[in-house]
Amino acid sequence: MTQTTYGRRKLVLVGNGMAGVGALEQILKLTRSFDISVYGEEPYPNYNRIQLSYMLEGSKQIDEIILNDRSWYRENGIELHTGTRIKCIDTTEKFIYRTARSASFPACTAALRRRGSYGKSQMWPRNTTSKP
Ligand SMILES: Cc1cc2nc3c(=O)[nH]c(=O)nc-3n(C[C@H](O)[C@H](O)[C@H](O)COP(=O)(O)OP(=O)(O)OC[C@H]3O[C@@H](n4cnc5c(N)ncnc54)[C@H](O)[C@@H]3O)c2cc1C
Repeated sequence: MTQTTYGRRKLVLVGNGMAGVGALEQILKLTRSFDISVYGEEPYPNYNRIQLSYMLEGSKQIDEIILNDRSWYRENGIELHTGTRIKCIDTTEKFIYRTARSASFPACTAALRRRGSYGKSQMWPRNTTSKP
């Protein structure tokens, strides 16, 4: 979480599961002052993983176990990136990295110092002391 240049705080959630989105729901009840982005590796919006067994056995479809459909994200001004695995989070430089070579986190962190090694990234404004 950090401050944007327009005074709104940026909040990035990595992982679009029940716990993370549940936390977002609580945050939204308290404040609307964040610019929120969610990155989830799976292709779906937040679904009830406990009911995954029913989907696997064929008695339910994915639509029936979705907890927050895509319109929920839109209506709450949340930028949703499904099918997007985050490889590294650099809390000092305020970057998250979507693409990276397979590497342990220390190696990945070292590679981050050579900016440009990784293709796509999202940058947080760096004029802040708060960390995401
Ligand atoms: C078949 C099944 C039945 C279950 N039954 C029960 C039950 O009866 N009772 C119970 O209490 N619990 C049950 N559970 C467990 C319960 O589903 C989990 O405890 C709960 O889903 C955990 O939620 P979470 O949000 O912490 O993690 P997850 O559900 O694992 O969500 C994390 C999400 O983050 C994504 N992610 C992770 N890393 C990255 C990354 N680097 N970049 C982008 N995305 C990422 C993952 O793809 C995933 O979508 C069951 C689980 C399963 C699979």
